[in-house]
Amino acid sequence: MTGYITRFAPSPTGNLHIGSARTALINFIFKSQHPDSKLFLRIEDTDKKRSTEEFKNNIISGLKWLGIKWDNDPQIQSLNINRHLSIANNLLNNNNAYKCICTEDELINRRKKINIGEVNSKKICNSCEKNKEIQSLESGFVIRIKIPTDGSEILEDVIQGKVEVKNNEIDDFVLVRKDNTPTYMLSVVVDDHDLGVNYIIRGDDHLNNYFRQKFIYKYMNWKVPQYAHIPLIHGEDGTKLSKRHGAVNLIDLRKKGYLADSIINNLILLGWSPKNQDDEIIQLQNIISKFEIHSLSKSASIFSYKKLDYFNNYYLRLESNLHLFKDYCLSNIVLSKFFKLDNQKLIRLFNSYKKEISTYSQIISIAEIYFTNNFSNTVDENFEDDFNKCFNDFLKLINNINNWEYDYINLEIKEFIKKNNIKFPVLGKPVRYLLTNSFNGPSITDIFMILGKDQSLERLKRYKN
Ligand code: GLU
Repeated sequence: MTGYITRFAPSPTGNLHIGSARTALINFIFKSQHPDSKLFLRIEDTDKKRSTEEFKNNIISGLKWLGIKWDNDPQIQSLNINRHLSIANNLLNNNNAYKCICTEDELINRRKKINIGEVNSKKICNSCEKNKEIQSLESGFVIRIKIPTDGSEILEDVIQGKVEVKNNEIDDFVLVRKDNTPTYMLSVVVDDHDLGVNYIIRGDDHLNNYFRQKFIYKYMNWKVPQYAHIPLIHGEDGTKLSKRHGAVNLIDLRKKGYLADSIINNLILLGWSPKNQDDEIIQLQNIISKFEIHSLSKSASIFSYKKLDYFNNYYLRLESNLHLFKDYCLSNIVLSKFFKLDNQKLIRLFNSYKKEISTYSQIISIAEIYFTNNFSNTVDENFEDDFNKCFNDFLKLINNINNWEYDYINLEIKEFIKKNNIKFPVLGKPVRYLLTNSFNGPSITDIFMILGKDQSLERLKRYKN
């Protein structure tokens, strides 16, 4: 058979959300698994009030950052309005749609009746269709689709399975607004048809829309695509993932210092897992060879920031990803300053702390401690006697080290501890504190190496026991 034609069709009414990124990712994986297949990107900007160029650019750069590639230039839906309107007229002429002039009050009234079950159909207008005068108007109407009141439609969804909805549950939705602009419901079908889309992967918040959009395909005699409605992502409290749970837009996750690989790894394991559970760390190429769309769970998945942190810690520690840290530094106001001042120092610091962090942004406050010129020169702590007794000798030792190299410093410290017959923490803890204002962190040799001899001595000397 010829390949699949899929598409990702975001509305540019917000920055790229992690849930949309997942839809795009699954489309990309699916297309990559099937030879001769294509993935198109369509910007659905027919809602002119809420769509912006900035959101469009944000979505495109977010997809590129994740490594999602599509075929051809992105399609801009609003450029195709005339084609959408011509299809609406076609539906009108063939008696599959009608003009409606109901006022907002009339519609509200009717909706009330539908909601309390007073009428046995979701049909929102029951008068305009039969009125010849209205049907011959030239302007001032909306165009509604006609939906039969009996019968039902069945969808064999790749993920959701068989779903049946009665036609009297479907409203006679608007195809063209009063201002002669097409609605999403019309444009999406026309554009998908014209692009030859034969496999639609989208969020299951659009499942109900299938039962509406199906009628346009039917009336136009167009081939209906296959559908895979993927379940939405929830936060840990079971509600739809939103800002309340944490960063939900790709741009915010990127600013925090999450890596594309971690986001992809985390997203793909929502509702799917490779057969071998040990393959939990899985990158795009490997996902493409293992993922099976029909084994995606049909229930909502929980997005765990803890898990994302775990993956990010894994990926940021990889030596081969060091260049990503450098890129991050240059994109961050604080870190770019430090990077320009002394990039070796910043990279050494990162390498010493990377085990302990889950995002690059956590390096900012750590780096501030190492790069500040205003390190407080008083220490309120009083350390143990064992430390106080040997501190001056330790200062001398450090002062006398001219070979400022990791192994050499490490050896000198070990010998010093042995000679003074103390346990390592007796020296290590206070020294770490004096150097960084924190009792926790990497080994003191690491810290000495980051700070260099002069700055280390300067910081140690603030302790006057
Ligand atoms: N533009 C729609 C959205 O952003 C997607 C429509 C679809 O995938 O059919 O939700």
